[in-house]
Amino acid sequence: MPVEMEKIVSLCKRRGLIFQNSEIYGGLGSTWDYGPLGVELKRNVKDIWWHSVVREREDMEGLDAAILMHPTTWIASGHVESFTDPLVDCKKCKKRFRADDLKGEFCPECKGELTEMRKFNLMFKTFMGPVEDEGSVVYLRPETAQGIFVNFSNIQRAMRRKLPFGIAQIGKAFRNEITPGNFTFRTREFEQMEIEYFVKPGSDQQWYDYWVKERFDWYVKFGIKPENLRLREHGKDELAHYAKSCHDIEYLFPMGWSELEGIANRTDFDLKQHASHSGKDLHYFDEATKEQYIPYVIEPSAGADRATLAFLIDAYREEDVRGEKRVLLSLHRELAPIKAAVLPLLRNRPEIVAMAKKIAGDLRRHFRAVYDDTGSIGRLYRRQDEIGTPYCVTVDVQSLTDKEVTVRDRDSMEQDRIPIERLKEYLLEKLVS
Ligand code: ATP
Repeated sequence: MPVEMEKIVSLCKRRGLIFQNSEIYGGLGSTWDYGPLGVELKRNVKDIWWHSVVREREDMEGLDAAILMHPTTWIASGHVESFTDPLVDCKKCKKRFRADDLKGEFCPECKGELTEMRKFNLMFKTFMGPVEDEGSVVYLRPETAQGIFVNFSNIQRAMRRKLPFGIAQIGKAFRNEITPGNFTFRTREFEQMEIEYFVKPGSDQQWYDYWVKERFDWYVKFGIKPENLRLREHGKDELAHYAKSCHDIEYLFPMGWSELEGIANRTDFDLKQHASHSGKDLHYFDEATKEQYIPYVIEPSAGADRATLAFLIDAYREEDVRGEKRVLLSLHRELAPIKAAVLPLLRNRPEIVAMAKKIAGDLRRHFRAVYDDTGSIGRLYRRQDEIGTPYCVTVDVQSLTDKEVTVRDRDSMEQDRIPIERLKEYLLEKLVS
């Protein structure tokens, strides 16, 4: 059974991972702020993604495109016309619902009568420049993908790329969702981690299969239990207007199986559309075969917030240790916001405090390490367990003479006595291997 979402929300608030946005004003619906530990965790999620899909590969380039784009982009991509959800209102209580979420004909809240269904465009609109008229309308991008498509030729030429190759981007996206909720699972402002992988038509199925497997394995590699992941193929009636096929990687969230990432075969739809709306030639010239064609595109599209939430939920454990409840986040070491905490056994002994602070300072040059003396050792361990710190280093009276410290492993709670001069190597080996 997955942990209840309330437990995760409460841990996140208590331990400085995620706070409700504008909380002092009563909050703004479904917007969240990543606190000191949350920003580290989410940054680690984005870093491991960037490392896996850009830095460790020879066939990928990175991009950081602007959120605001030429408005024609969204006509070409089909978003102005089709990026809609079916909306109905309750005539009695005035609440709004996604028609496809409803089971019966009446309002699920007050049983009132519902209006006819109408299309609701999910793009946020704003105005560029000082004049607020139709000619100055721009959109906050609802996906990062289009920033990649409009830069396809720039990148291919500047980086002298041959197919197949991909472009990866991490960035904010905005959707005016009708029913946001489930904590950070569905929000109106979120971050995407998207790849557009350009291939020769005809090789698209092979690359599609490759990316579905590659992306599934990535979540497992970084700690998600395989039994909490599954693949779901979209039926023909469910496919987006641009897609030939699509698989969702689903995670067993507390509210049930839900999408974590989608991998779609977008064919040559986007590049063709942009070529026709911009009048620019977006063909690729294959030197080897002297052929000219518009590449096909495989898109693995993930959400940084959803991935962070899934890693958090999957890492959450409650254990019984000698009759006491221990809450722990068994996060993969690369995801842990803090890698090591240095704790003095006695905080009223200045030599111990000084030694512990020096050790923390030395470790900090290599990874995120903290010093903490704001409680008894038992309480300090519990606090670090709850935020997923893989190693606690304890300095005690004996350390002053034998120059050794105790290193406690978060998951096994086993303790090792390590010479201070070897501590950095010892921890680095465990953190990097
Ligand atoms: P859903 O069916 O859940 O609305 P989608 O199929 O519309 O998602 P995509 O357009 O495929 O989503 O977006 C790719 C990824 O971006 C999703 O798998 C998800 O991780 C993330 N994402 C999409 N919408 C949101 C949102 N409102 N809040 C947080 N993350 C989102």
